[in-house]
Amino acid sequence: MDALQSKLNLSWVRVSTPVSALAKVENGWTVEAAGVKENYDSVIVCSPAWAAGVLLSPVDEVLGDDLSAIPYSSSITVNLLYDEATLGKLPDGFGFLVPASEGRRCWPAPLCIASFWGVHRRERLCCARFWAA
Ligand SMILES: Cc1cc2nc3c(=O)[nH]c(=O)nc-3n(C[C@H](O)[C@H](O)[C@H](O)COP(=O)(O)OP(=O)(O)OC[C@H]3O[C@@H](n4cnc5c(N)ncnc54)[C@H](O)[C@@H]3O)c2cc1C
Repeated sequence: MDALQSKLNLSWVRVSTPVSALAKVENGWTVEAAGVKENYDSVIVCSPAWAAGVLLSPVDEVLGDDLSAIPYSSSITVNLLYDEATLGKLPDGFGFLVPASEGRRCWPAPLCIASFWGVHRRERLCCARFWAA
């Protein structure tokens, strides 16, 4: 966002300003956010589907229902960092996927090797990220 904002006219940008309503009007759209209504030629909705469903239901009920029906679930990630020097040779690859048929709560576990600045030296650390839902 910071990189994007630096390239834009700041008067065009609204951060932390959730859109509370969308309405189709004759020459475009009315967008309501923070109690202010503004008109635009076009709108690109890139919120999560559940939020888009709420905003678009008044404009197109079927579209709103379809978007609202897209399921979401909560998830957590656990990131474990290991000093690469103590791990020895790591296997080739980027981690593993756990098929749903295994019935585990853990899904993918991507591995990445990255360089981080430690307090006194540049350390090479391996990050194993476990994703569970
Ligand atoms: C735990 C986790 C790990 C992931 N790791 C990776 C990875 O390693 N690599 C990878 O490529 N992808 C990864 N992904 C997937 C990636 O994060 C998503 O695909 C990507 O963020 C989707 O971007 P988006 O802009 O479509 O939606 P989002 O990032 O969900 O952005 C939607 C935005 O809409 C905003 N919004 C909601 N309601 C409103 C409203 N009413 N008005 C205005 N704004 C609103 C939200 O605040 C949010 O900022 C990961 C996802 C998760 C959950």
